[in-house]
Amino acid sequence: MRTKGMKKFIIGLLMAAMLIGGVNGFNSDNNGGALPVEKQQTVQEDTGSIQKAFAAGKSTMKVHYIDVGQGSAVLVQSGSHFMLVDGGDRDASSKVVSYLKRQKVKKLDYVVVSHYDADHLNGVVGALNVFPVKRVIAPDYTTDSRVYQSYCNIIAQKKIATTRPKVGAKYSLGKAKFTILAPNRSSYTNENDYSVALKLVNGRNRFVITGDAETESEYEMLAGKQSLSCDVYMAGHHGSANASSEKFLQAMKPKYTVISCGADNKYGHPAQGAMSRFKAIGTKIFRTDQQGTIMRQATEAVSNGTKVRADSGPTESTEAAV
Ligand SMILES: [Zn+2]
Repeated sequence: MRTKGMKKFIIGLLMAAMLIGGVNGFNSDNNGGALPVEKQQTVQEDTGSIQKAFAAGKSTMKVHYIDVGQGSAVLVQSGSHFMLVDGGDRDASSKVVSYLKRQKVKKLDYVVVSHYDADHLNGVVGALNVFPVKRVIAPDYTTDSRVYQSYCNIIAQKKIATTRPKVGAKYSLGKAKFTILAPNRSSYTNENDYSVALKLVNGRNRFVITGDAETESEYEMLAGKQSLSCDVYMAGHHGSANASSEKFLQAMKPKYTVISCGADNKYGHPAQGAMSRFKAIGTKIFRTDQQGTIMRQATEAVSNGTKVRADSGPTESTEAAV
């Protein structure tokens, strides 16, 4: 497994390098032809190339699904512009900060807090402490947890501008754009449904991230005006049975689905029901619990505006957690 993982890792780096160099037609499913280990690039060089390509007018966007165990943290990069969507739980907080530093993040244009559960918020507090942040987008409800109190304290202390999500609101991140898809109401019984959902667009490539939104919010997004079709979907609520409903998946038709969950997590994520629904639409699955640690601690997707490349092949396992 280790050798195979390393092979995928090296191929992933090569693919990113080829893409930035403007070479097309490389098939992400092709895992043959490993390179010698010496050909590995450093993360710094890779990031530098993306910034160069961006300066040359190429709209390369990189989406890093960071392996935070049970939780969620996504770094989006367009040129020298960065957005963090959630930050993982307490035990992943320092890992997220050091991951961002390795990507040469100096400041964050946006931090999106999908909702205030600890497995999304702890790492956000860590990042807010370390990096200058232009704007936080966070849902309009409160909880009484300690991590939520720390979050409120740092926002107040650093006077960080905070915006409530408004469905249809559009923002720019370098040459990429994103639109808010949810929440569509101001009050929910299930806190997960307060999750901020968004759609990232880079050229023709689209990525949907829905936090822990569940079926109720998914149905509201389906009834709304925003188009949901996308290339890459981050499985809602870590692949829980109560998210990624059939109709929602059919509206998105994602080529790739990324599941962020911890190995052997106590919630049984991803659930068999969700995995069967993914299988039914033929989306290719990436899992941070199985693939995250072999790729610079993140599953990555690179968009050049017309094509999306994954940093590795999809997982061959379609099994649910047991
Ligand atoms: Zn969660």
